[in-house]
Amino acid sequence: MSNNNRLRIAIQKSGRLSKDCQELLKQLGIKLNLREQRLIAHATNMPIDVLRVRDDDIPGLVMDGVCDLGIVGENVLEEAQAERARSGNKGSVKKLAKLDFGYCRLALAWPQELGKQDKSWFSGKRIATTYPEILSKYLEREDIDASVVMLTGSVEVAPRAGLADAICDLVSTGATLEANGLMQGDTILESNACLIQNEMLKDAGKLALIDKLMPRLRGVKQAKE
Ligand code: ATP
Ligand code: ZN
Repeated sequence: MSNNNRLRIAIQKSGRLSKDCQELLKQLGIKLNLREQRLIAHATNMPIDVLRVRDDDIPGLVMDGVCDLGIVGENVLEEAQAERARSGNKGSVKKLAKLDFGYCRLALAWPQELGKQDKSWFSGKRIATTYPEILSKYLEREDIDASVVMLTGSVEVAPRAGLADAICDLVSTGATLEANGLMQGDTILESNACLIQNEMLKDAGKLALIDKLMPRLRGVKQAKE
């Protein structure tokens, strides 16, 4: 549990969500002195500390109460929640808001030269992904008997490397798939960045601060619409 009385927010250190996260914190009126290599940045005008970590660590940090809030892609959140649920260690985290950045979709794809395929083609095939929980749930739901190959990176080269027949990966424009000679199929999940909170948070001061930030967040979102 975070044991001091400053609200701890986890954001991605460097990657696709970092710039938007920093911008959002600024729009919420949180003044930060971000130094390149520092893990923690202290806000100068509010009792808030910002932890900059890998996006994959954010759901766990918030579920375990190491951080009170976090900003993470719904894809990463859903995968982490499913993994915890399976291991019987349900993390207590609630989604406070869906944010208007970090949009992407998790989609199936296979080598272009195979042409259009329907779901039945996947039966008996190997599908490479970084999201084994989300993919397994989809396969179960759709009654597809395929096997899941877990890769933490370079999923898009798996078919060419002979590691899998197809992939299930994040797509935003489709350019990466095309560059790797892959054809896009069904979307399994649509995702945006979201703001999450540890559900067990009891500290009255921190809860009051969150209550103060939420209307600002709604204001920022409305101003963009
Ligand atoms: P880290 O080093 O923090 O683990 P990463 O390489 O896992 O970084 P990024 O590629 O920076 O992560 O993506 C972070 C998040 O951005 C994704 O989990 C997803 O929610 C979102 N995102 C938006 N568009 C895309 C995209 N085209 N490809 C991948 N992720 C995307
Ligand atoms: Zn990551």
